Amino acid sequence: MSSMKNIDRLYEEKDGKNKIEKGTLYIVSTPIGNLSDMTYRAVHVLSNVDFIAAEDTRNTPKLLMHYGIKKPLVSYFEHNKAQRGEQIAERLQNGESCALVTDAGTPAISDPGEDLVKLCRSLGIPTVPVPGACAAITALTVSGLFTAKFAFEGFLTTAKGDRKRLLQSIKHDTRTLIFYEAPHKLLDTLQDMLDNLGNRQIALCRELTKINEQVMNTTFSQAIEYYNENRPKGEFVIVVEGYKESDEDAFWADMTEQEHVSFYINGGMAKMDAIKAAAKDRKIPKGELYKKLL
Ligand code: SAM
Repeated sequence: MSSMKNIDRLYEEKDGKNKIEKGTLYIVSTPIGNLSDMTYRAVHVLSNVDFIAAEDTRNTPKLLMHYGIKKPLVSYFEHNKAQRGEQIAERLQNGESCALVTDAGTPAISDPGEDLVKLCRSLGIPTVPVPGACAAITALTVSGLFTAKFAFEGFLTTAKGDRKRLLQSIKHDTRTLIFYEAPHKLLDTLQDMLDNLGNRQIALCRELTKINEQVMNTTFSQAIEYYNENRPKGEFVIVVEGYKESDEDAFWADMTEQEHVSFYINGGMAKMDAIKAAAKDRKIPKGELYKKLL
């Protein structure tokens, strides 16, 4: 394949930094839909390691075929990860190099790759990242929500009680929250989020980088209405606006104006500053409060 030759040439010209090292685990990100989102380096690494550990040995061959890569594959997934992880680590310790890929996206993010990396690092086996597409970050970038601070929550547990506890524990997190969800669980998850987080702005990011890509800026309640009418299909990332303190649940909501000002005075503020701060919290002109309380 001529594109492969070009990629190899590109790497030959480099100063050896991209040389495949013996006894090393490469954590290789692959596309989350659009096969062109593969990096040159990912192709180079997959083409030159001794073997590839793949989460899905039916899916990965399609990707390898697309790039003309022929390499021995071993499966590494949720239900064989303990035993297979040991075997992979042993091969690495014997000097072979391995690329870890998952079904799609960045290995070790909400998939079993995490355990293999942990094992290798505990054994002193070098681990090298080969970054690329990650569904969570891809969704965040198109969400239109606050991106400077965010928290990745991955898949919510399906155990009802634990799920509720988790949602309650992050209810007051002001960062944007990112969740993964499967289509058949989407409606239940949106409902639980509405019940526990309150109605919020969200970006529902579906089938990113694929033909049916859709990014919907909506709210929990509107999304529930929509998906009650339209069966959810494809892969979803739910990006949720962080907590915004509303007047009803602000710390001063049950205080009188006088109590609110006293709260600041007791905290060490001068009376005038306390009035100014309370007026700002209550979104009322400070002159109004001065008149009432001075
Ligand atoms: N490790 C991968 C990553 O972070 O890129 C994610 C693996 S996780 C097992 C799979 C989940 O990622 C899906 O259930 C979905 O929530 C999300 N996902 C993967 N590809 C997606 C896509 N093209 N569009 C939207 N969500 C996607």
